Amino acid sequence: MKQLHTREREQCRELLQQEQVDRYEDRLQIMDAFLQTEHHVTCQDMVRQLEERGTPYSPDFVQDTLRLFYRLGFARKNRFDNGHVRYEHMHLGEHHDHLICTGCGAIVEFEDAQMEALQKQVAEKYGFEPLHHRMELYGICPQCRKRHVDGRVLALAKPGETLTIREVLGGPGARLRLRTMGLKVGDTLEVIANINRGQMAVAVGNTRFAIGRGLAQKILVSPLDEKGTPP
Ligand SMILES: [Zn+2]
Ligand SMILES: [Zn+2]
Ligand SMILES: [Zn+2]
Repeated sequence: MKQLHTREREQCRELLQQEQVDRYEDRLQIMDAFLQTEHHVTCQDMVRQLEERGTPYSPDFVQDTLRLFYRLGFARKNRFDNGHVRYEHMHLGEHHDHLICTGCGAIVEFEDAQMEALQKQVAEKYGFEPLHHRMELYGICPQCRKRHVDGRVLALAKPGETLTIREVLGGPGARLRLRTMGLKVGDTLEVIANINRGQMAVAVGNTRFAIGRGLAQKILVSPLDEKGTPP
């Protein structure tokens, strides 16, 4: 097995011993698996990964251990856009920020020295001593954009526009929510009202629907062409 992040592992081992944490060997197994991940994992992801490695643990124990890692400073905790809590291991002395796709949930990490410097300047300007920060930029990732060249998200539509639902992003949950409302891919709707942040109102024929902001961000629409048929 490739041993990654030996420094982090060593520090974790020492700290767990120092703190006299119970089930120390088991926790270290979880740390090993955790250090092998290079992305943002939920507790469920870790449970699955540990199973695959042949060292299965109960979800409660994994959860407890991830919280412990967070408390001891080995994990960073994120809750992107109301989603599940995700953990990532901290690389010593490194920092990065996130771009998050509202379509597929993809998370891209970036580092930008200019942006970091600018944040320091802003803090100084307001007399703050900067301690830490979190930068999350939400948008549509290149893959999602490529798949839907002329598709747009409904959330950005203007009142008066007539649009066809082309696709619902973000897994079966969003599609189901739309279905329960009585809407589906292929439907043509008119935007009635779209006020910043709140719900938006659309109409299909004579029926009006209120669609929450979050869902509207996952609905890809395209305008009708002159013949009145969707492209
Ligand atoms: Zn940053
Ligand atoms: Zn995406
Ligand atoms: Zn990250």
